Amino acid sequence: MTTLSDLNTLDAPAFVAALHGIYEHSPWIAERAAPRRPFASLASLKQALQAVVMQASRDEQLALLRAHPELAGKAAIAGELTAESTGEQAASGLNLCSPEEYAALHALNAEYNERFGFPFILAVKGPTGRGLTRTAIIATFRRRLKNAHADEMAEALRQVHRIAEIRLNALLGVQHLFGAQVMDWAEQLGALSDCEDNLTCAYLTPAHRRTAAQLRDWMLEAGMDAHIDAVGNVVGRYAAAQPHAKTLLTGSHYDTVRNGGKYDGRLGILLPIALVRRLAACGERLPFHLEVIGFAEEEGVRFRSTFLGSSAITGRFDPALLDQQDSEGASMRDALIAAGHDPAAIPFIARDPATLLGFVEVHIEQGPVLLARGLPLGVVTAIAGSSRYLVELGGVASHAGTTPMGMRRDAAAAAAEIVLLVEQRCSGRGSLVGTVGQLEVPGGSVNVIPGRCRLSLDIRAAVDEERLAAVDDILAGISAICARRGIEEKLWKLVEAEAAPCAPVLMDRLGAAIEAAGLPRFDLLSGAGHDAMEMARITDVAMLFTRCGNGGISHNPLETMTADDAEIAGEVLLGFLRGLA
Ligand SMILES: [Zn+2]
Repeated sequence: MTTLSDLNTLDAPAFVAALHGIYEHSPWIAERAAPRRPFASLASLKQALQAVVMQASRDEQLALLRAHPELAGKAAIAGELTAESTGEQAASGLNLCSPEEYAALHALNAEYNERFGFPFILAVKGPTGRGLTRTAIIATFRRRLKNAHADEMAEALRQVHRIAEIRLNALLGVQHLFGAQVMDWAEQLGALSDCEDNLTCAYLTPAHRRTAAQLRDWMLEAGMDAHIDAVGNVVGRYAAAQPHAKTLLTGSHYDTVRNGGKYDGRLGILLPIALVRRLAACGERLPFHLEVIGFAEEEGVRFRSTFLGSSAITGRFDPALLDQQDSEGASMRDALIAAGHDPAAIPFIARDPATLLGFVEVHIEQGPVLLARGLPLGVVTAIAGSSRYLVELGGVASHAGTTPMGMRRDAAAAAAEIVLLVEQRCSGRGSLVGTVGQLEVPGGSVNVIPGRCRLSLDIRAAVDEERLAAVDDILAGISAICARRGIEEKLWKLVEAEAAPCAPVLMDRLGAAIEAAGLPRFDLLSGAGHDAMEMARITDVAMLFTRCGNGGISHNPLETMTADDAEIAGEVLLGFLRGLA
């Protein structure tokens, strides 16, 4: 078995020979990485190889892509693949395709090559390293055929790095401490759903309660004291040796959106459980109590109210919410009682801030920033604040054929100006983003000038003053557009949430743990809301983001990450915990 220290000490030609086959027919990558030795870790070796490709010319990158065989293509059928490719394609059963599957792949290969000028490349061993199904491979193939050229070339190169990562794992005999377990657990939880054909886990449904019970069981098995609290949070405690020590909280939510992903929220619960299991197995205690919390509700699917789990921990749970009803008319109070909870006990969940060291949340990024940079992890600087409004515009509905252009009061045309105003005001200004996500002409017809139009506004930024200034300008702009066009405007504010900055001291400790793992520290803003936002009201918070595959898509079944990224996140979180000691 080759070791990292072998790779660091071999002469350059022997280093290149040892990495033969890691990047398909492309020894130049190892040649250019050789002078960057020694590598402190496998992670830094992977980064160095990836950096060589990122810094290579476009022609060299294309040559690398073209060095790969087609999936189940002619070379595979003729037995002309490298040993690595043969094994990988066989692991996914690509050598066992039915005639229909061969025909489908043959047609897709031809169409893809015609469109992009290089073969379709996919790490067929998949996110866990154990292999994708043929159905999943063909579905991915069809989906990626629709990509724009530049996006698809970037995705193909990322798949090349993923293939190299899996091959390096095999070469070095890498055994995961956390990653494989976390992926398995996420898969098992992903099977507990309110719906048969997708993952939906809404507050206090049967699937939600089974998920909670499963998390509690895994916490107990890992060596924690664990219980489910009155609001449905699953709380596991790994006690310090000293009973009067302070407590560090970690965790995330286990509810999902409708038709959601397997890792959103859950990663931040499962990874700390895997860590504690390891600590307990080695008899290692931390000098603080560690509490892992699976927050019962963050997404607001069932009762349209978010952060129910974390607001109970911060002592800000609003009892008026207990009368809120779901779409079936069941109140939250009744749902809690039916699940065996005592709503009157919710206020007692609140933690005393004086006992806390802070809160750290691991979460999948839910965006493309880390993916585009080729980084598995990032340190969150702040969770963006947000302002949301509903705007209703009133014009005059009149005949599309008989009303001259200069005599119209068209509500949709005013809305169109507003959409562009939002885009223009929020572009090129740091973290500021603005979106009109809903836009409708209620009861509109093809031959009627729109008399009414409804639209939403969503404005976010890391700095509250920047967001509020943008909101002011946009609202003033809307009034000006409406005045000029003779349109009536009505405005409802739906959300006004302040930004939650992460604590620099905790960010630095996360950054130090990332660097100790042999990776560069990279800081980024969270545009999405997270439980850490609520927790920031009572204690210092930090967040570690993990890379989100498939172009950064989330709140979608295509959300994905790899076992290797879970592993390095576990290593970094453990380093952070030990560093905090
Ligand atoms: Zn989430």
